[in-house]
Amino acid sequence: MTERHCPVCGNPSKQLIYHQSFSQISEGSLFNGYDVVVCGHCGFVFADNIPSQEEFDRYYKQMSKYENEHQGGQISICTQETYDSIVQQVKPFLANEDSYILDVGCATGGLLATFQKNGYKNVLGFDPSPSCSRTAQRLYGIQVENRPVSEISDFEAKFDLVIFNSVLEHIRDISESLKTMRNLLKPGGLIWIEVPDITRFAEYTSVAFQQFSMEHINFFSSVSLTNLMQRNGFEVEAIWHNVRQLEEIQDPALSTLYRRVEQVSTSGVFKADLVSKSALLEYLDYSYQADTNVLEIIDEIVSSGRAIVVWGVGTHTQRLLATSRLKNANIKAFIDSNPNYHGKKLIEVPIYSPEILAGMTEPILVSSRLYQDEIATAIRLTLKLSNDIILLYKRGRNQI
Ligand SMILES: [Zn+2]
Repeated sequence: MTERHCPVCGNPSKQLIYHQSFSQISEGSLFNGYDVVVCGHCGFVFADNIPSQEEFDRYYKQMSKYENEHQGGQISICTQETYDSIVQQVKPFLANEDSYILDVGCATGGLLATFQKNGYKNVLGFDPSPSCSRTAQRLYGIQVENRPVSEISDFEAKFDLVIFNSVLEHIRDISESLKTMRNLLKPGGLIWIEVPDITRFAEYTSVAFQQFSMEHINFFSSVSLTNLMQRNGFEVEAIWHNVRQLEEIQDPALSTLYRRVEQVSTSGVFKADLVSKSALLEYLDYSYQADTNVLEIIDEIVSSGRAIVVWGVGTHTQRLLATSRLKNANIKAFIDSNPNYHGKKLIEVPIYSPEILAGMTEPILVSSRLYQDEIATAIRLTLKLSNDIILLYKRGRNQI
C-alpha cells in the first residue's frame, strides 16, 4: 500500500475522514480497505494508502466484471439509455459524422456502437480485458485494443473526441493518464469525462457506503474536476448533472466536456473546493442510517445460528464481512454468477456458481443492492428453487 499526494493539486497535506474496510477474496483481491481523505490545499476527496497502478492494471485484466458474460456481453436497457443520452449530449459539439472517436475503458463497446448507430463510423476502443474486445468485435464489429490506460503512450492516431466514461474514478495516476489522453487528441479536440458526483452522494443512499467501492478511488465535484483538467491542459466546455439508472438504483453522475488547449498552465489557479468535504460528511451520516436495517437482519441471522448461503461476493459482501457480524454467521457457501470468482474463497468459505444450489436447502441471503431483485427472480424462475430467500432491502419494481 502506498500513500498518495493529492491527485488534483499535488499537495501532501490531507485530513483523514473515514476508513473503508473489505474482507479479501483468497486470490485476486486488491486490498482490505482504504482511507478516505480530503486534500488540505484544494479540498479534493480521494482514497489514500492504496496499491500501485501496476497492481490495479493486473486486477482489471484478471477480474473484470464488465464482460457481462451472463448476458452474452449484451448491455442492459438502463445502460443503453445512458449511452443514448451521452451521444445526444455530445453530438452538438462534434463538427460532423467523420469525427474520430476513441472510448478508453470501453468494456464490450456498447457506447461506441451507439455512436455508430448515430452515423459515426470512425470509432475505436481500448479496454484491458481480452474478453471484452472479442465481444465488441462479435456483437458490433468494433475494434477494441487490449491496453490499460497506463500503456497507451505512443498511439499514432489522433482523435476529435476521447471518451473517459466511468473511468477516471478508477485511476490512481490521474495526471499521467490525462497527459496520455491529451496526446491522443487533435489540437482543440474534446474529452468526455463522466464520474460519480460527490456533491449529490447523500441524495442517493439506497445502499450504505456503496460509493466507496473496491474500485472507486477518486471522488469528484465539478470544482475539483475542473481544477484537475486546467492543470493538465484542458478548458471546460460544458458540464451536466445527470442521474443514471443502474439496474435497481440511481446514481448521480457528473458529465463533462473539456477541450484541449495548447498552453498547459502549471502555476494553476485553484478555486478551492468548498463543497466536497461537507458533502462527504453528509453522505457518511446517511450511510450509517441506511445501514441500520441491514445490520438488524444480519444480527437476527447470526443469533439464530441457522445455516445460510450468501449470493453475491462483490464490494457489498466484502464490506459487510469486514464491518458487521456477517462473518460470524453459519455460511455454508458463497454464490456468484461471475466465473472469475469460482474456486476462490471468502473467509475460508468456497465460492461457487449458482448451479450448486440445486443440491442445497439452506435459505439464500441475497447480498447485493444493485442486482437484488434480479437474483431473487433468478432463484425462483430460472433455477426453480424453493429455498427461503432473505432480502436486505425492500423489493423494487420487479416482483417474483
Ligand atoms: Zn489538492
